[in-house]
Amino acid sequence: MDHSGFDVLIVGAGIFGTSAALELRQRGFKIGVIDPGPLPHPLAESTDINKVIRLEYGSDEQYMAMAEASLTGWRQWNAAWDEPLFHEDGVTMVTHQPMTPGGFEYESYQLALKRGHQLERLNADELSRRFPAWKAGTYVDGFYDREGGYAESGRTVEKLIALGKQQNINYHEHQTAAKFIEESRRVVGVETREGDRFYADVVLLCTGTWATILLPELSAVMKSTGQPVFHLRPAQPELFQPPQFSTFTADVSATGWYGFPLHPHAGVFKIANHGIGQRLHPEKDERIVKPEDEQKLRAMLADTFPSLVDAPIVYTRVCVYGDTLDEHFWIDHHPERSGLVVATGGSGHAFKFAPVLGSLIADAVEGKANEWLAKFRWRTLGVSAAGEEASRHHG
Ligand SMILES: Cc1cc2nc3c(=O)[nH]c(=O)nc-3n(C[C@H](O)[C@H](O)[C@H](O)COP(=O)(O)OP(=O)(O)OC[C@H]3O[C@@H](n4cnc5c(N)ncnc54)[C@H](O)[C@@H]3O)c2cc1C
Repeated sequence: MDHSGFDVLIVGAGIFGTSAALELRQRGFKIGVIDPGPLPHPLAESTDINKVIRLEYGSDEQYMAMAEASLTGWRQWNAAWDEPLFHEDGVTMVTHQPMTPGGFEYESYQLALKRGHQLERLNADELSRRFPAWKAGTYVDGFYDREGGYAESGRTVEKLIALGKQQNINYHEHQTAAKFIEESRRVVGVETREGDRFYADVVLLCTGTWATILLPELSAVMKSTGQPVFHLRPAQPELFQPPQFSTFTADVSATGWYGFPLHPHAGVFKIANHGIGQRLHPEKDERIVKPEDEQKLRAMLADTFPSLVDAPIVYTRVCVYGDTLDEHFWIDHHPERSGLVVATGGSGHAFKFAPVLGSLIADAVEGKANEWLAKFRWRTLGVSAAGEEASRHHG
């Protein structure tokens, strides 16, 4: 079947696709969105019970400015929606050693102070006094930022889709883009594996970690890695409820560990690791948490949250990140395929920016000036950026 008449066809309905769809619709465009579904897609990165929303980005002032604008956006969404999906219980970031210049936490702390945020510095005693679930003495430095927290991410995507449908955005589930349709060297649509054809003035590719399947040229600048996520059921749930507990990072540059307070609906404690991860093909490889991942988790819990050492793991997931080698987003017109715009990448950390992603992507589609877009333009990434190091942008 053929579908036509769209100004913009968005391929992929994760947070990039759904936020762009709403913004472009508000700018007056006729929008179609396709995704294999069901929506939100269970394997999409955006589909999870929660994601960290934080201001801290080391010394990177642009990301902090974007996170500030996003925080305002999350608060506005909370006020406008029937049920708040952003839980602003703060973020605790701690280190095993004293914070030092050049370190992620130190630079984040200094930049946040410089930009007028009020952080509470924590030493070992204050950490375990204020947040009793933490093992006394393991972490000796850090801070608590009362701004930020976490968003119920899968439900946020669901909400954006519902809002989009009210605004006549056409969501087509069970449609998987298989190839681009080109006429006179211009992309004019996509053909799906299911046999349909969708035509539009512009095709906007928002397929996250699947982007390299349709655009193999992106394999030179993007990699897909799987990283483990665990849900545990604490025996003392009250220890993990705000205000005695908040979203946290635990010496994250060195360890990769970050996590969340008890989930308000699921009643679980979610903890995840963002490290080197295992290279995975987003479609071909199985997504299985390995026994050694669980051993590392148990060691971390013994060192950090002793009451969780024997807590049953009730769910595990390997989330496949689609990251650019420099961990920045990739939002631009394809330089060699007119009619095609790509918005993806930098995906270890994009969810928090949901309230500003739509306007970033829409400005790229329209070719409008945007002070933040230069960082995310089409670029060449050297081999040095591809080092197998733990990521700088965790959660
Ligand atoms: C474990 C984990 C933890 C994270 N934690 C955080 C965090 O705490 N804070 C934070 O800010 N960010 C976090 N992130 C990053 C964040 O989740 C991602 O940056 C973001 O969700 C990526 O959104 P996306 O729309 O690009 O991709 P996705 O959400 O993966 O969406 C892509 C969509 O494209 C669809 N698709 C794929 N192929 C096709 C095709 N051929 N045709 C049509 N549709 C297709 C898929 O079905 C999917 O719905 C985390 C990521 C992971 C993996």
